[in-house]
Amino acid sequence: RYDVLIVGAGHAGAAAAIALRQRGFAGSIAIAGDEPELPYERPPLSKEYLSGDKPFERLLLRPAGFWTDRGIALILGRKVVTVDAADHRVVTADGGAIGYGTLVWATGGCPRRLTCSGHDLAGVHGIRTRADVDRMIVELETASSVAVIGGGYIGLEAAAVLRKLGKDVVVLEAQDRVLARVAGEPLSRFYEAEHRAHGVDVRTGIGVTCIEERDGQACGVRLADGEMVACDIVIVGIGIVPNVEPLLAAGAAGGNGVDVDTHCRTTLPDVFAIGDCAAHANRYAHGAIIRLESVQNANDQAMTVAKAIMGTPEPYEALPWFWSNQYDLKLQTVGLSANYDQLIVRGIPSSRSFSIIYVKNNHVIALDCVNSTRDYVQGKMLVGVSLQGKAEGLEDPARPLKQIAV
Ligand code: FAD
Repeated sequence: RYDVLIVGAGHAGAAAAIALRQRGFAGSIAIAGDEPELPYERPPLSKEYLSGDKPFERLLLRPAGFWTDRGIALILGRKVVTVDAADHRVVTADGGAIGYGTLVWATGGCPRRLTCSGHDLAGVHGIRTRADVDRMIVELETASSVAVIGGGYIGLEAAAVLRKLGKDVVVLEAQDRVLARVAGEPLSRFYEAEHRAHGVDVRTGIGVTCIEERDGQACGVRLADGEMVACDIVIVGIGIVPNVEPLLAAGAAGGNGVDVDTHCRTTLPDVFAIGDCAAHANRYAHGAIIRLESVQNANDQAMTVAKAIMGTPEPYEALPWFWSNQYDLKLQTVGLSANYDQLIVRGIPSSRSFSIIYVKNNHVIALDCVNSTRDYVQGKMLVGVSLQGKAEGLEDPARPLKQIAV
């Protein structure tokens, strides 16, 4: 039995254990995770790790000795399949039981799979774990063409790396523009143009009928209009399904993720949930229940949970931020842009350094900054600020954002 058992050895789980020890928690802590690796950074999986620019050792969140030195037990390669909330214990796939005083559920999600025929063929890949990418790297040695289904951040990052590796790449996006779920149209159009300029065949408004097979191996994507897009590898980047079945089966409220309150408490006694799997009312989404899939959210919710466990609770109100690297473009976003009613393009996209400011009810709600760290840093101060009487000249990068924030 551990005083705190964390399930999921990813960003949120690791950060929760670190935060507890940093804040002086003296009880026993264990992290149980189904991957065999020590906790590692996931963002490089579609960036420097896929490209071969960063070896796996440099992805580790902490060296091995850190966990032993801090008395944090790592129970790796063990998947939790059942939660017994009344008895305060979990059961792993191998039948072992682990008791807890407090449970922190930090299990992230699995790549959403296609439902069409061929979705499970060899050569069809999601990108979520080191194992996913290692499998793909082996196949890339002999593959020359890749179809990426889904024009979200992960799909586009992978497309950029694969072009760098000299592969033929097609991106197939169901909506009428890439990044439609997360960004305004000018940003989508900018990234479409960049990818095309780098030789990616970006196709939008595309329906996928099935994955075609040759000798049990994916060999192409059949589109709704009948066209066959031949390829050696298919990457599916269409979002994640949160890993919450054991908690929901134990009676926790939830659906798309597990519901948590402002202290990341689930509806089960002594059970918290954090990170990608935690559905919470986000202040920056005007209280809407959302899941955030970002390192920021994983780290900040981990801190929230550590404070709650230590008896010094503070509600989760952190400002969301995110980044994405594609080619030599560094996108940094702050705030949440959904439901904006006004969009200001600051600077000229073709200069490859510009920002987009999202406004709702005359208040700045978010910024997307491309190769513009200055705007990103100063824009953090701008989220929530009223533009009443201050909006003039905002599209001019020569006018520093900090002038508007004060
Ligand atoms: P994870 O890090 O996924 O950790 C969950 C862990 O729990 C996993 O190891 C999982 O295998 C394990 N697990 C699941 N179920 C069980 C179970 N039943 N029992 C035991 N263990 C279990 N965010 C950014 O902010 N910027 C980026 O540029 C960025 N790029 C990304 C690129 C890729 C390819 C991916 C996949 C993600 C990226 N993200 C990025 C998102 C970011 O990595 C996640 O938001 C973050 O990892 C969430 O942390 P988490 O702990 O909630 O989930």
